[in-house]
Amino acid sequence: CGIVGILGTHEVAPSLVEALRRLEYRGYDSAGIATLNDGHLDRRRAVGKLVNLSDLLVHDPLPGKAGIGHTRWATHGAPTVTNAHPHKAGPVAVVHNGIIENFRALREELAAHGLRPESETDTETVALLTQHHMAQGLSPVAAADRTLARLEGAFALVFLFDGEEDLLVAARKGSPLAIGHGKGEMYVGSDAIALASLTGQITYLEEGDRAVLTRSSLTIQDAAGAPALREMREVRLDA
Ligand code: GLU
Repeated sequence: CGIVGILGTHEVAPSLVEALRRLEYRGYDSAGIATLNDGHLDRRRAVGKLVNLSDLLVHDPLPGKAGIGHTRWATHGAPTVTNAHPHKAGPVAVVHNGIIENFRALREELAAHGLRPESETDTETVALLTQHHMAQGLSPVAAADRTLARLEGAFALVFLFDGEEDLLVAARKGSPLAIGHGKGEMYVGSDAIALASLTGQITYLEEGDRAVLTRSSLTIQDAAGAPALREMREVRLDA
């Protein structure tokens, strides 16, 4: 339901939770964040209000300067910790808004390769499929692209990869995403409001866009796979 991603210069967990707080008004049943903790994917998830996630983080902090976060409005699978995002499979973690319509077919295909989900969500198949593509030797971006080409439905997705401290991949198809530009930082959110305390410099992805973010660059490709230029705007939001 709500998505945020941050490539930061400071610890990102507090900023991820703050961004999710700005999206609370949209409604949600659970929340979670993942970061690269000492270079490796690590996550914390909680059912219910964001305060449950922030309480968890007090007792079990999540270090890291690159991370993604999500507030979930369950469509496939009950609101449980196991079904909460981010979903992780091997070297990749994903947060997702929307519905992957063909997830059952993808799940069967993955099972044939011995890859089985832990959750009941449509989302986890995206992580598993990307893991499968990376295991075949594809780079994180190429693996995400090959996964995106297989997905049917409406979605916004953000991918974070193990050991990749300066990389997020974001894709928009039927569900909005906004990129935020910071000073030596880069952000993504399902709504510019999520990023209001971080930046007012926003690039909106267009339908079918896929973006590769680093702290110093934003590369966008359109639905046909061609390089795309999207203007950056100054968005005035109440911080
Ligand atoms: N379909 C996904 C799920 O049920 C994402 C729901 C959402 O947009 O929050 O986990």
